[in-house]
Formats: sequence, C-alpha cells, structure tokens
Amino acid sequence: MDVKKKSCAACGELEECNLELAWAQLQQAVEDGCELCTVVKAGVLSFVPDAAEIADQLILSVDVSLIVSIVGKDKNQPMVVEFYTILGAPSVWPGVGPARHVSADSSADECVSLARKWLHGCLSLHSECQRPDVPKLPTRVVAVGSCDEETRIIVTEPGERGEYAALSHCWGGVHPVVLLSSNLEALQERLHLNPSSKTFREAISFTRRLGIPYLWIDSLCILQDEDDPSDWQREAPRMSTVYNSATVTLSAASSSDMAGGLFPNRAGRAPRQRVVEIAAPAPNGSTTTVYARGRKIDPRDAGEFVHSLFEPEPPHLRSRAWVLQEDQLSPRILHFRKEELAWTCSSCSRCECRIRPSLPQPHPFRRSPGTIRDEDKPQMTGRFSLRWPAMVMDYTRRNLTKERDRIAALSGLARYIERCTTDTFFCGLFYEDISFQLLWHIDRDGRVPGQSPRGRFSAPYAPSWSWMSVSGPINYFHRHPLGAAPSHPATRGRDAVSTIGTVVGVGRIPADQSNVMGPVLLAPMFLVTGVVPITRDTESGQWQPAYPIRDFASENLKFHIDIEEDETKFHNGNGDSYALILAGRWEGEGMTILCMETVCILGRLLSTPEEVNLVTLARQYQQQTSEDQILGNPETFKSDWSLPDPSCSYFRIGLARGAGSLKAWEQAGVPSVGRAFLF
Ligand SMILES: [Zn+2]
Ligand SMILES: [Zn+2]
Ligand SMILES: [Zn+2]
Repeated sequence: MDVKKKSCAACGELEECNLELAWAQLQQAVEDGCELCTVVKAGVLSFVPDAAEIADQLILSVDVSLIVSIVGKDKNQPMVVEFYTILGAPSVWPGVGPARHVSADSSADECVSLARKWLHGCLSLHSECQRPDVPKLPTRVVAVGSCDEETRIIVTEPGERGEYAALSHCWGGVHPVVLLSSNLEALQERLHLNPSSKTFREAISFTRRLGIPYLWIDSLCILQDEDDPSDWQREAPRMSTVYNSATVTLSAASSSDMAGGLFPNRAGRAPRQRVVEIAAPAPNGSTTTVYARGRKIDPRDAGEFVHSLFEPEPPHLRSRAWVLQEDQLSPRILHFRKEELAWTCSSCSRCECRIRPSLPQPHPFRRSPGTIRDEDKPQMTGRFSLRWPAMVMDYTRRNLTKERDRIAALSGLARYIERCTTDTFFCGLFYEDISFQLLWHIDRDGRVPGQSPRGRFSAPYAPSWSWMSVSGPINYFHRHPLGAAPSHPATRGRDAVSTIGTVVGVGRIPADQSNVMGPVLLAPMFLVTGVVPITRDTESGQWQPAYPIRDFASENLKFHIDIEEDETKFHNGNGDSYALILAGRWEGEGMTILCMETVCILGRLLSTPEEVNLVTLARQYQQQTSEDQILGNPETFKSDWSLPDPSCSYFRIGLARGAGSLKAWEQAGVPSVGRAFLF
C-alpha cells in the first residue's frame, strides 16, 4: 500500500515507541497526506476542540494502543487521548492495537462476565494465587440467595466452608443499618435494606451475579452494640483472615459512604467513556474503525498512563486505616473505580480498557499463609521487614473513625506477617529488624485531616519507644539498600542508615492477656548502646552533650521532641535528658548521628501517678514475667535486670540528629557503651 511505502516524516508510522511532535509538524504531515497523522489530528481535536489550547508539543507513545499526551496552554491538566482498535478488526499500524471499550456502568452484564472470567482464570490458572482449600466461612455472613427477598444473615457452623466475597468500603457518616443484638434475629429472617444502603444492595447483587453464595460486610456481620463491644473485640482480630481467605474482595473504591453505591455514577460520561470513531485503513485494503478516548490527567498523578490501572486509591479509601489491611491481604480484588472495573491478584492486574493483563508489583502479602512452607519463612522474614517501615508511614497517615482502633486496624496485618515469617510483632515493630525500626521520627509538618492534634496516648497503650505511643504521621529514614555495613562499597555515600545500638531484648505485659497483639501495660526494652547526658544552654536554647566533644559542634545537634506536651513537661529543667546513640547515617562523606532523646524517668522526682505506677509495674514485671513474653535472650534479659535502677531507665521523648563522627564521641570520654532500659 502507498501509505506504508512512504514513511511520514512526522510520525514515522510509529516505528519508534516514543516520539515528540510539534502541533505544526502534525498539521504539515496531514497536508502531506499521512493517514495516521490525520487520524491523530481528528482524535485530538475531538477532545481539545480548540487547537489554540494546545501548547505545541504532543507526545506519542506506543504501548499496545497509541497514547497521545497533549499539554494544554495552561500546562495544568494535560489531556491524554488513546487510539485503539477492537479485537478482530486491526488497523494497518501495529502501534494502534486492540483494547476494550469501557462499559457505561460496572453493573452492566459485560462487566459481570468480565469479572467472572478474571476470577475463574485466577482460581484455575494462576499458580501464585493457589489456595489450599475452599475457604472457611467467617462467623456470620450475608447469604445473598437468588433474589433480594431471600437475602439474610446466617450464623455459620464452626469449620463450615464456602465461597464468599468480602466488601471493602467506607462507612462515612451514614450508618443506615448495622447488626445489633436486638435485630440479629430479624435479619436472620430477612435482610431488609433501605435505599440509603445502596453500597450494600449493589454489593449483594454483584456477588449473586458472580455466582458466589455469601458476602461478608463488617457492619452487618459483627455486632455493633455501643454498650457491649465484646463481639467486636472477638471478631476484629479475625478480620485479616476474613479478607485473606475471601474468594474475592469487592472494593467500593468510588464511594465515600454506604449510600454512595458500589457502581460509580458515570452520568454525564467522563471524556474517557466518550468514544470517537475514526475511519482508518485496514490491512486487507479495506477500511476499519480506530477508536479514540480521552482523559484529563490529574497533575498529581502526572506520568500515569491513559488507563486508570495504576491510579492511586481515591482519597477517601486511601485515607482509611482499615483499608490498608483489606487491600494488602485480599488475594483477589475487584476495584469498582470511577473510570472502570479493575482487578488485582498476586499474578496480574487487569482492567476493563485493556485486553492484556499487566504484571503486578511484587507483592508478598496476598498469599495464603497455608501455602508458605516452613523452609521459606526465613526468606519471607526479610521481605516483610523491608516493607514494614513504609507501611507504618502509610498507616499513620490514614484516618480512623475510632481512635481505639489504632492497634486493632493493624494487628490483623501484623498477625498475618507473623504467620508467614519467623518474625514477632512487638508493639508496632518487628523484632528481627527492631534496631532499625526504633528510628522513627514524627513528621512535624504532617497532619491527618480530621484527626486530633498530635498527642501521646495515655496508658495502657504502647511504650514510648514505639511509634504507636504517639498520634499523627511518622517517618523512617532510608535504610542501607543491601543491609550492608556503612563502609561497604555498595552503600558508601548513600543516604542511608545503619544501626549501632543493640537491642538485647524486649518484654511485655499485655493489658489483656488474651490479646498479646493489643495494648500493653508495660513493655521494657533492654538496649546496649552509647548514652550521653545532654544539657540545654539557657541562653541559646540549644541542646548539647554535657561533655565537650571535639568535631561535634553542638549547634549540629538538633532535637525533635515528639510531643509539645513533652517539651514543656521535660524540658524546663525538669528531669535529666540523655541521648541514646542508635545509628549513623551516611550523607556523602560526612555522617549524621541519630540519637534517641530520652529522659531518665526514675532519676527525677516521681511526680505523676503514671510514673509511680510504672515503677510498681517494673518491680512486678521483674518478679513475674514469663519467658514467652520476652524476646531476645531471656537469660541475659533477666540476669541483667536490676530495675528499678535510677541511672538507666528512660522514656523516649524524641529523636536527635547531629553531624560529626562517632570517634569524636568516644575520644571525648563519652561512655560509648551503656545499658539502657526504655519504657
Ligand atoms: Zn504521519
Ligand atoms: Zn490470580
Ligand atoms: Zn484500564
């Protein structure tokens, strides 16, 4: 064919995968008779009708389909137009390949059959997604029946198995129907759902159409009695298993409350759902149709593709603390996104607009713990440890409807990790990596919208060395990429942390003996590390080591107090401050030393009832502690246990950073190794 012989100077018939093209060049190529450029121009003008709005440059990239990014004059929301054909009707250009139309509504029959196809393919073909058996049913489930009249709540028999879907959704401010001990009996007869429970009704209907008999919804399957939280306390720790065992999780991604519905409202059709047909040459010499669909790219996800597969979670779901474990632990998720229906499992990600699946990011969390062999667990330990600090950072930026859930919303995930690895969860940190995980610091600028101001949770909760003891977002430093020593050639010069202090052991007294993952009364940590007294210069307000240290300018020592309250409480000459040297952090050739700022709790006058209580508890702990509540070496831990010892028991109040060398500290006669008990 003529067109194929003379290659266009502008588009080159898409032989390059990526090219930039000025609008004027495209115009010229159209005048010179390039059919591909003519199709591109027609498609672009369908979504940006006024060519004067285009800031000259078009970026053409070929994936399976052709994606044209158009930067507008205002440089804000660039428009992306995708050109594609449908299966079985190819164009002459290999770069304009097949894709799938997106349905107007994810309740459409095409969407249901697509979802069934994805689910069936995953269960029967994906080796990564294998599960040991048909799942055990949760305590209560919604039996969806064959119509709304047959829908009811059932209480399952222990060990009963069956396929079930789980709903991941936002409660929002609307609570139309919840399970209470007073309505349990009635809901077992029939589950009446009023119009404001739209998300539930649609999830029930979709589950039924998927051919799955049961659906689990938190507020309908756990008793929500305000005056009797006992059912909640029993069921909440099982929620991670509920999601991890579910046949599929339905994620109501586009709805901010129960009334929003599972199926996003696509009324008014976003540009993406608007499809333009353009005539184009077919390989057999006849003509075919090339389709164009557009999408405004939000500047916040700049660099993302036209299709929404990698779209970040929408803000209301993203911000929900509980969703972290629902999302991380569900082996198969159907995302009901505003743009389209999408799928994630351990083997692939799929979405409505694409025919081919994409490979997911390596994701260790979706597997069923039952499929992990004991000999693989040590390796899994490393994989989980590396991810944990990032997950904590994410988690502390999320919202909780109820503050009491701060530990509960994460304990399921923690329990899951314990089952998949050889590691132990201890008050928000994992023991194998605890020296690094101690190095959290608060994000002074971060604040979670709608969350109370930063504070310290009152006891019983978490020890001061755990990020769980404070509210609000926290951060971690980068770690050495290979876990290697700072002098290692591969890590030298990297902005990364290597730990120095040694955690000898930690022990805990859970507030509730039946829930060791829950809040604690006491959790002392025994460290061997550098301990330096620090004092505050009253004139400059600067903190400095009590010993003059050469090469370690005191102005370099910057303390960050976790909580303002602690600042006034401990920093007005009220109590002795110490820095525990925990880590060195390489930055180029220099080094930053990280210290935990502490106050010696028993060295100062015991002024508050909590402090008196702590001492009493420490004494009890010394006498009573059982070895299964100690991590590390119980012998060392117990024999060195000389508490309460006024000189070495501390309460963390912040993290300090200083520039200098560790050698300088040592040469200055600072006791380089000391014992510290942290509470
Ligand atoms: Zn061309
Ligand atoms: Zn799969
Ligand atoms: Zn897509």
